[in-house]
Amino acid sequence: MATVVLNRRCACQRDARLVTREMTLPVLRPAHRSARLLAAGLALCGCAVSTGTSSTSGTGTSTSGAAAAGQCTTGLARDLDSALAILTDPPGCAGSVNSYWREQLGEKWTRVRFIGYNDGEAPADACGAQAANPASLADNAFYCPQDDTVAYSRNLLGQLYEAGGPYLPVVVLEHELGHRANALAGVVGVVPRAEENQADCDAGVTTKYARKAGRLPFSDVLASAQLLYKLGDRRQFGKEQATDPNAHGTPGQRLVAFTKGYTFGLSSCRKLGQRTDGRTI
Ligand SMILES: [Zn+2]
Repeated sequence: MATVVLNRRCACQRDARLVTREMTLPVLRPAHRSARLLAAGLALCGCAVSTGTSSTSGTGTSTSGAAAAGQCTTGLARDLDSALAILTDPPGCAGSVNSYWREQLGEKWTRVRFIGYNDGEAPADACGAQAANPASLADNAFYCPQDDTVAYSRNLLGQLYEAGGPYLPVVVLEHELGHRANALAGVVGVVPRAEENQADCDAGVTTKYARKAGRLPFSDVLASAQLLYKLGDRRQFGKEQATDPNAHGTPGQRLVAFTKGYTFGLSSCRKLGQRTDGRTI
């Protein structure tokens, strides 16, 4: 299990409640077809996927090895399989999230285990096992530090795909992988909102990394920034409580955090994580 530096309640539970509220896009219809595609996509990419009450491990490249010939996806990610490969291609592949975090964290970074679940069910991970009410996890995605997994609602990712194309589900999971990287590096934010801003910033960093490798059109960068703005916390304008365990950045803060990461890189994200006031400017 990863070393997790958290001085507050289980991060996955906090994230679970929060993302349930913020990641839901109520104007969208359920997208069962794309949800199935997402599940298939992650399976094809060799990641762990839930299979009822158990999960299967990824295959292909070892968690410590570099990419072998033929294991990397190249070119613009115009379809779902290609976009998901940004998340799942092994270290050594140009533009992949695994390449970026391996470069930053060395052997601490291993390929994550993704756990897909359907709304109404609990994911087959440690956080899901603790969920008293699985329905509360609907339309959700979160990093579970207890067993170092990232769980995602297939329904949520399907909705994102339908709303904005194949990269929007990816950038949401890049936010969760940012939480994971921060936990592995021991640099989680000093207050909840700072940690969330830091993860948004990390998603900007890895988006830039994919973009520089020729994996993304700029339109996906703009769509990602727009998505984070829409998902911003609108409850506490004028009375932000950065220490609220459910706090995320406001729309403007989420947009700024993502943009800072995209523009200025990882050092700017670490600074956001140390802001005790949870602000981004
Ligand atoms: Zn988060």
